[in-house]
Amino acid sequence: MTTPAASASNGPMIEIQRLNKWYGDFHVLRDIDLTVARGERIVICGPSGSGKSTLIRCVNHLEEHQQGEIVVNGIAMTQDVKRIEQIRRHVGMVFQHFNLFPHLSVLENCCLSQVWVQKKPRAEAEATAMEYLERVQIANQAYKYPGQLSGGQQQRVAIARALCMRPDVMLFDEPTSALDPEMIKEVLDVMVELAHEGMTMLCVTHEMGFAKTVADRVIFMDQGQIIEEAPPESFFNNPRSERTQLFLSQIL
Ligand code: ADP
Ligand code: MG
Repeated sequence: MTTPAASASNGPMIEIQRLNKWYGDFHVLRDIDLTVARGERIVICGPSGSGKSTLIRCVNHLEEHQQGEIVVNGIAMTQDVKRIEQIRRHVGMVFQHFNLFPHLSVLENCCLSQVWVQKKPRAEAEATAMEYLERVQIANQAYKYPGQLSGGQQQRVAIARALCMRPDVMLFDEPTSALDPEMIKEVLDVMVELAHEGMTMLCVTHEMGFAKTVADRVIFMDQGQIIEEAPPESFFNNPRSERTQLFLSQIL
């Protein structure tokens, strides 16, 4: 079996080959091939219901797939719980609705997995939490509860919480879609900074300004398939597929 240490320095970060998934009879992902290199930033866009969330949730096994291969940081996904845990250790995830624990303070939200999954001493976990809360400029809210924060602040906490696990790759599922317009920028700014620091990122988002600024590749999905992928410049200026053109005309 490949160990994380042995695999960490070579090969792609994520390798997906001929991935197929069904929800009952519904064929939600169709022959998806996607390789994400280390340090690469990929934006996934596409109409609602096209399978974007399902695809990125397969990467850390929040969804199970039926056919195809998913390899993360050299570790092949299987049904084995230990293997899944091993993969999840490398993967940070940020959701549309933040998914913070409402009954825990901001600081506790950031410490929980460090203490229970990584078995870190509490003091060390808190120091790491404060370091990342400072990075997303919210350390002064560490003792508040999520409900006392704005949506933008909660999402920055969610990003800090994911970073506390020192992931090798970050998955974002429409992280700004649930935010009021005036809060979108503060979250995107954090994501742009993360991209500039070299984090490998797989982001589902319709923030095309973000895509143009940081994406190495933009992927367009429709009806469970990857229809088109290209660097942002050609994706936005010369979309090849009619479906991409139609989608872009609706959102830009
Ligand atoms: P997107 O993120 O692109 O909007 P999703 O991956 O959430 O798309 O969903 C793709 C399709 O799969 C949609 O038609 C959705 O209704 C369906 N779907 C998503 N989750 C489930 C589920 N747990 N059970 C059945 N169908 C689902
Ligand atoms: Mg979605």
